[in-house]
Amino acid sequence: MLDQAQRILKDVFGYDAFRGNQAAIIERVAGGGDALVLMPTGGGKSLCYQVPALLRDGLAVVVSPLIALMDDQVATLDELGVSAVALNSTLSADEQREIAERLRRQEIKALYLAPERLVQPRMLAFLQRLPIALFAIDEAHCVSQWGHDFRPEYLQLGQLAELFPGVPRIALTATADKRTREEIVQRLKLENAERFLSSFDRPNIFYRIVPKDQPRKQLLAFLAERKGDAGIVYCMSRKKVDELAAFLTEQGFPALPYHAGLPSDLRAYHQKRFLNEEGLIMVATIAFGMGIDKPNVRFVAHLDLPKSLEAYYQETGRAGRDGLPADAWMAYGLQDVIFLKQMLSNSEGDEQHKRVEQHKLEAMLALCEETRCRRQALLAYFDEDLPQPCGHCDNCVDGVQTWDVTEPARQALSTIYRSGQRYGVGHLVDILLGRDNDKIRQFGHQHLSVYGVGKALSEGDWRTLFRQLVARGLADVDLDAFGGLRLTDKCRPLLRGEVTLELRRELIGKQPKQTGGPSPASQLVRAEERDTWEALRSLRRKLAEEHGVPPYVIFPDATLLEMLRSQPRTLAEMGRVSGVGARKLERYGEAFLEVLGGGAQGEAPRVVTDLRHELISLARAGMTPAQIASQLNCTEKNVYSLLAEAIGNQQLSLDQALDLPEELMMEVQDAFLDGEGELPPVAEIAEQFKGRVPVGVLHCVRAALQSEFEL
Ligand code: ADP
Ligand code: ZN
Repeated sequence: MLDQAQRILKDVFGYDAFRGNQAAIIERVAGGGDALVLMPTGGGKSLCYQVPALLRDGLAVVVSPLIALMDDQVATLDELGVSAVALNSTLSADEQREIAERLRRQEIKALYLAPERLVQPRMLAFLQRLPIALFAIDEAHCVSQWGHDFRPEYLQLGQLAELFPGVPRIALTATADKRTREEIVQRLKLENAERFLSSFDRPNIFYRIVPKDQPRKQLLAFLAERKGDAGIVYCMSRKKVDELAAFLTEQGFPALPYHAGLPSDLRAYHQKRFLNEEGLIMVATIAFGMGIDKPNVRFVAHLDLPKSLEAYYQETGRAGRDGLPADAWMAYGLQDVIFLKQMLSNSEGDEQHKRVEQHKLEAMLALCEETRCRRQALLAYFDEDLPQPCGHCDNCVDGVQTWDVTEPARQALSTIYRSGQRYGVGHLVDILLGRDNDKIRQFGHQHLSVYGVGKALSEGDWRTLFRQLVARGLADVDLDAFGGLRLTDKCRPLLRGEVTLELRRELIGKQPKQTGGPSPASQLVRAEERDTWEALRSLRRKLAEEHGVPPYVIFPDATLLEMLRSQPRTLAEMGRVSGVGARKLERYGEAFLEVLGGGAQGEAPRVVTDLRHELISLARAGMTPAQIASQLNCTEKNVYSLLAEAIGNQQLSLDQALDLPEELMMEVQDAFLDGEGELPPVAEIAEQFKGRVPVGVLHCVRAALQSEFEL
């Protein structure tokens, strides 16, 4: 079975090897078992049910929560030559009837639909009359009431277990935590599912967190190295989103706003443009995210602090789904902390809930102030142990300077205390630096013992220190006193001199590195390759427009990049590029070869093995011999003889190759098996089926029987 899976991987999807757990998962599901798949974004979850769908007879039913996701997947399968449809509310009654008819005729391999549609009694009854290959439940964490994506309709999917006994079910999610996992198993009745847990590391993402100083300027510096790349910039408020999108566009970085306050059609339009155009920046609140399958998002930038590591991981995870280098960049400052604490204290909910949220915020702050590898810290939070520092985050690459802040921290805390625990950082720093101004004199703060004791440090150093004290919980923001700082119980040991404190040292004002990874993702392509790269991209864009799909559905960036590097000269060579399956080779191979330097001049010799590959994948995708013949531009007779050959080699099953009513099939098989010993030649029984069954079919059936007997 794995051999066959491998062939489908190459023929249909154009890939050479399975990744991670894919092979094991596919074996499990294709063999009829249930599976729970936990895999990070970009890990390749779709193949885990698409390949078993092609290996098994019958219809694969895929449950997905969002129309945008479904459309994307259907377009992708369509481009691969696999017949797939999405049933959703945007279809007219006529269109729906037509789909039902095609389903009944078993012309469709994969059906995508929303959970609420699947669990309608009529739909369930309809599906019960069809052969079903498998159920795939995507974004399975939507069944969890604890998560933020809870969808009540998902709760009803548990009934599939009883209604379709023996049909394998596979649930997939990128949400890792244990509680959600157990809830999925229980609510979807997946007690017998084998669990496949992948590492949640996203090795291609470079993490960097910088102290917020002049955020817009810092962002522009980051973007300057990424001109032409698509990315997302997250901000907290709608107003900020609108303003920043306008500002970036003005500065020559085309950007669109996205937040819940925009009319829904405008939102949808912006989303569509982000998917279909290259190099657009989406400036968004967290309303933007789920359902964004765009694989070539090259960076995610945060100008405001997410409220938890879960949110940070999920949001940054939208970068680099395609596995190519990507950046997660964030600027963070004390104001963020104050703002989030404010939100927390104003939020609804009981004390326990607030305590949990408070905890999550602290974990987020700890990552910002982390002095060791960011990736290790991030994964540790999700209970995953990365044994070595990653070498691919700011802390690993730049190193972190730490300093013993025991003494300055005590001075800072004591300044908070002596001034009455109600002033903000600006004023506290003025006291420490011994500044003379109205506010100082108004409150008589020039008489405090701490006045002017901190002149050894700069204003920036003090600000950093206060931020870190808050982040570490040694001081707290008093929200009732307009953000004034006050002491917490946690600072006592430090004030009493019982402990020392070491913190990261930020080089404020000393040109800290603000940018992303060692080499930004946009520099994937070397200068001398630029022209060809742009030509490949513009061909892809043209084809995408013609087909009405996003460019990455034609070919992902990784595939274009491999074309650029391996410079295929012939169709056969092109077929070896990862991501070029038989169908895409046939449709687009020539055009891309041409861009790559003249390409195949005139008539490209059609290599026979290529034809076979194509034929097999077309048959697997559910095309009839007649359709295949017209697709490949050859006679039906030829198609049948190649099909028979493929069946004989066990590259195809009889069901995949032919679409014959069951009874007729039995009759043909019986005719062959009637005699004793050797199978009779086709000619001997041809007369009997004249006018009812094409001779080619007889050849195929004979080939199948023969290979069966030889086993
Ligand atoms: P997920 O749903 O887990 O976020 P996808 O299924 O969208 O991930 O896959 C992410 C990208 O990786 C897609 O472009 C997909 O075609 C590609 N991919 C998946 N499996 C493989 C593989 N075995 N070899 C090469 N590319 C793969
Ligand atoms: Zn690291």
